Amino acid sequence: MSLDLTAAPPSAPATADDGVWLACIECGETFAPFSAIRYTCDHCDGLLEVRYADPPTFEDFEGRGVWRYAAALPFEEGVSLPEGDTPLHHVPRLEADVGVDRLRIKHEGMNPTGSFKDRGMTVGVRVAKELGVGRLACASTGNTSAALAAYGARGGMGTLVLLPAGKVAAGKIAQAALHDARILEVDGNFDDCLDIVQDLAARGEVYLLNSLNPFRLEGQKTIGLEILEEFRQDHGTYPDRIVLPVGNAGNTSALYKCFRELVQSGALDPEDVPKLTGVQAEGAAPMVEAIEEGNDEIRRWPDVETIATAIRIGNPVNAPKALPGIRETGGTAVAVPDEEITDAQRALAAEGVGVEPASATSIAGLRRLRDRGVVDDDEQVVCLTTGHLLKDPDAAFAAGNDPEPVPNDTEAVLAHIAE
Ligand SMILES: *Cc1c(COP(=O)(O)O)cnc(C)c1O
Ligand SMILES: [Zn+2]
Repeated sequence: MSLDLTAAPPSAPATADDGVWLACIECGETFAPFSAIRYTCDHCDGLLEVRYADPPTFEDFEGRGVWRYAAALPFEEGVSLPEGDTPLHHVPRLEADVGVDRLRIKHEGMNPTGSFKDRGMTVGVRVAKELGVGRLACASTGNTSAALAAYGARGGMGTLVLLPAGKVAAGKIAQAALHDARILEVDGNFDDCLDIVQDLAARGEVYLLNSLNPFRLEGQKTIGLEILEEFRQDHGTYPDRIVLPVGNAGNTSALYKCFRELVQSGALDPEDVPKLTGVQAEGAAPMVEAIEEGNDEIRRWPDVETIATAIRIGNPVNAPKALPGIRETGGTAVAVPDEEITDAQRALAAEGVGVEPASATSIAGLRRLRDRGVVDDDEQVVCLTTGHLLKDPDAAFAAGNDPEPVPNDTEAVLAHIAE
């Protein structure tokens, strides 16, 4: 199977352009990367993956941020704000409380628009320019639309975003609005929005920048590269496990691809590959179901609900790339209830790390796996927090303290705080 961790490095087909090509993960067919617009395989409709004749080693990287990793990407530079180079926080109290040997938080909320989606967009919008397309579009639970709007604006291109009406956090819509996206609120859920935008893309109306677009995942690979480099620099080793929220499973797929390419180049020993561990909300957990039942395919959940709106997704499009990643790395997947997500959001906030609900699922999932003994107390773990606290102010208000009205008078304020 082409997605094995230890598959031999691919050799470039005649369709390759400068050592880069697209390959179908199902039937193996290859395509030239930039001569035509395609999102899936012409023959079998399978997912496509970007392949390189020359997979990168750590020595190939220089500079900072996503474009430090140009040797692992299809271009030398992109439409940049700039993105990446996010903090890997120490959280000593939370580490002791969860009960692992080491816990660090990779806070992707510190990207320019406040989520990791920026890493995908800097590459995706660059590819859109290469292809010469006019209008960019996505379906979104919010953060993809914020990133697309900002990077589209930066690149001087028009953007169209389809959102599930009433189910997108306020901060995210505000971003899309101000960065001048046309915002279409669909009377349906995220999966319905994605169906429609795929139809629009198939009719040539828009260039699709959801994570079905294989170039988005190239940019998101750099999360893995940053984690590996920084963790090794700080601790002399790689993390045993990376725990992350799962929506469309783009990041899970991207991290796995990052590891596979490093193994192919000889830069990473297969034994050192971190266990990819996905977390979903109980109300939207089709990936967890597939892992628990040992299925190769996802059953689409028609009705999904969770406070973690960024991962309120019932049909993770990248599952065929992500399931092998979880299995081949020895990882797992776990579902968490909304109350535990909010508790984890507060626990991160108590360490000064402000995240939106979906991001806190990584900590909530790690806690569950510790309680079940799936994660050992001697493990070194990185949890990914995918989006910033300010993305979802309503959730933050609901989880946090209430403001207390006081009179306009010092004595009265003193009396009030003494209560
Ligand atoms: C997009 C998003 C996710 C889901 O990521 P996938 O790559 O689709 O699994 C999780 N958290 C936040 C905050 C997001 O914006
Ligand atoms: Zn195919």
